[in-house]
Amino acid sequence: MNKQVRTVYVSKEQRQLNAEFMELYEPVTYQGTLLPNRGESKKQKRLTVECRFCKKKKGKTTFRQDTHLISNLLGQNNFFSIDECDQCNQFFKRAENDLAAYLGISRTINHLRTDVKAPGFQSAKGGVKVKSLGNDFLWVQNTNPNSGEFHVDMQNGKANISLESQKYKPESIYRALLKMALGNLPAGAVPDYELGFRFLMEMDDITGFDHLKRVTVTETDLVLARPFGLLFEKKANVDNPKLPQHIFCLYCIDQIFQVNLPGFKRLLPEDDFNAAPIVPYAQFDINNPIDDIVRSYYTAIFSSKESITNNLGLSMIFPTENLVGIPLGIDINEWLNNLSKR
Ligand SMILES: [Zn+2]
Repeated sequence: MNKQVRTVYVSKEQRQLNAEFMELYEPVTYQGTLLPNRGESKKQKRLTVECRFCKKKKGKTTFRQDTHLISNLLGQNNFFSIDECDQCNQFFKRAENDLAAYLGISRTINHLRTDVKAPGFQSAKGGVKVKSLGNDFLWVQNTNPNSGEFHVDMQNGKANISLESQKYKPESIYRALLKMALGNLPAGAVPDYELGFRFLMEMDDITGFDHLKRVTVTETDLVLARPFGLLFEKKANVDNPKLPQHIFCLYCIDQIFQVNLPGFKRLLPEDDFNAAPIVPYAQFDINNPIDDIVRSYYTAIFSSKESITNNLGLSMIFPTENLVGIPLGIDINEWLNNLSKR
């Protein structure tokens, strides 16, 4: 992770926000997932003596697996970290699976890459399967008519499809995001976050901090092919203890998840980060600047330990005069496979 100079575009309506934000914070690292670093990370991992997360030393744990800095479930990538141990890799996988479930159909619909297949989607009750076949072609299959998730009214041209996600624990979403945030800290800042790492690892035992388990979400009209992370640090001349020392932003599909990092030198219940500013949306494709891209901001509360689902149900109205019949008697799966090979 090197300090890099990057030119970004900030859309017109975000410039005021940007000016205010830049008074308080400066970017520290940009971490994309495009650059492959497997060989280099393997080399460096051999020299790692302590896990960044659980603090276990070599001998008490192992450092053999490929560990991703930005979760592979957010888009297959070949950028690996150097100081996450194999035990932690397994431990965080559960949280990352929950994050993937939370994103639900979005990972399938908004898949822009051509080098890897889009992840498929299966609804919670198993009645709806969705595959992306590229070229804006989405295959929605009624796999269990008895599940009641799929209603198509051919006469009146209406379709209602339930797209209930797989179950996830909201707290796990926070854990997965905080893991990426702390994973992106420069090595020099890691000792200052001893309490932050403990909070991440022992979330079940450290009570009274549920108010920290929330994330500012910026929804945008821009869909990104690959996720990336941005880390900001409070400027040296800003002397406001109510502001987090670091803010991490995960740009993912059409959202930014903003994590205000807890546990910098202290972990106190009164540190609620209510005063933290919203990070403006930086566009990295400066050749195609777009204005009016932010749809909404909201605070997502991820403190519950109860497993839930979400439902980005699909309602469509279609003209009945143009209906095309697919001849029955073909092997749908074979037909789909042939289509996706083209
Ligand atoms: Zn570890």
